[in-house]
Amino acid sequence: MKKKRGEMIAMVKLSVLLVFVIVLGALLVIFSNQDIQAAGPVDVDPTGAPLRWEQGATIVFNPEHGALKAAGGYDNAKSVNLVKQAFQTWMNISNVNLNYQQGSYLNDGGDVNASNFQNFLYQGTQGCYADILGLTPEEAGPCWAPVIFDEDGSIIESLFGSCNQFSVRAVTKVDDINNMSGDPERRIIRRSSMIINGACIPPVTTKSGCGGCSRELTEEEVYDTIVHEVGHFLGLGHSQVNPDAYDRCKSGGCSGADVEAIPTMFPTSMSSVNYSTLHEDDKAYMRRLYANASNQYCSVSGKVFDTDGVTEVAAVEVVAVDSSSGSGWIAGLSGAESPQSSQGVCTSNCGSYLLTGLQEGRTYQVCAQAVNPTFKGISSIANKSQSVINFPRTCPESMNITCQCSGGTCDTYAGFDITIGQGATTYNSYDPGSSSGSSSSGSSSSNGSSGGAGGGCSLSIP
Ligand SMILES: [Zn+2]
Repeated sequence: MKKKRGEMIAMVKLSVLLVFVIVLGALLVIFSNQDIQAAGPVDVDPTGAPLRWEQGATIVFNPEHGALKAAGGYDNAKSVNLVKQAFQTWMNISNVNLNYQQGSYLNDGGDVNASNFQNFLYQGTQGCYADILGLTPEEAGPCWAPVIFDEDGSIIESLFGSCNQFSVRAVTKVDDINNMSGDPERRIIRRSSMIINGACIPPVTTKSGCGGCSRELTEEEVYDTIVHEVGHFLGLGHSQVNPDAYDRCKSGGCSGADVEAIPTMFPTSMSSVNYSTLHEDDKAYMRRLYANASNQYCSVSGKVFDTDGVTEVAAVEVVAVDSSSGSGWIAGLSGAESPQSSQGVCTSNCGSYLLTGLQEGRTYQVCAQAVNPTFKGISSIANKSQSVINFPRTCPESMNITCQCSGGTCDTYAGFDITIGQGATTYNSYDPGSSSGSSSSGSSSSNGSSGGAGGGCSLSIP
């Protein structure tokens, strides 16, 4: 299984439109920036609170009538089933209080394609927030969370430009009406949308001058893609848990433990990694967003300081790994849930980190590490404007933590601050306001320009 992912973010009228694009193939070269998240939210509001669906919500998605690739065996029924299966995979996480349901089919006359997708992709948000917006149902229109199968890639081509249908694998948007208002009601996600591209599912389509798909997708890859996209649909951003494992897998020396350490929400694809099975890090952040009230897992929080022990630093990855087995990787990025300005600049507590989902009875080593410099780019979350520091991995001895629970409550370790090690000399500055810096998969035509927009990722297949 392997995949490539890019991501782009745009602001539209009343909603923050977060778009995640999975990218594969040759065009990746032009998509040089990648986001730097560890497990975290797709976006946060000004207080740093993550955007998410309502606790206990039943998420309804509305499929189109068309097929992902009829000629390749993906008729509508099979296509919809894969989406349902992917949702079920996320819902199966224990202690997660969220449901899903296949809603009515889109009123698409039989197929959503390049000629009519705008009726579904860009309409339906108001209908989902009619009450908050003070609109009548007639004014607001229907609430749709569309799932669109782009059989020949022509929708992707319309969105991203000619030939991109052979490189962009899927797009997911998370729509809210947050608008940096700080209103908790507005940070609730009530609508996401997803386009899955069938162009590189065999039999592949071609177009002269485009060079075609870099490779044809296997069945596993098709499903991997959908599971990853559903993660975005639910409010999860990308996660870069274990850069060492990534390096090893990239160079072909991938162990079983490495495969386990690379999560479904990893921003890139690798042939050796299984993305359709969720990993500890995926589950941990899903529980962070949607766990039942009872605290069945331990958490660790604190701040990350620069070598001076005073200056808080964002965009440092804090990881916890089972110290005896070397497995169960969980990560959180400093600044990921910190207050931010409308430009996405962290305004306070920028060094704060939070790791959740530590399991009872396990002893974890907690370390701070630099994000992989090849993942440079603007994140879609609070820390997107921060510099990224390169420093030696720092694992304070005092931070071997055993998760203990009693009476249904588990330990919460707070104030576990980390001062990163010596040698923090390389600073890779991001340009907070630059839309070019945000890369957005290079798809500048659909890239939002205003505050909060940003974030891109893509990687080449090793
Ligand atoms: Zn993604």
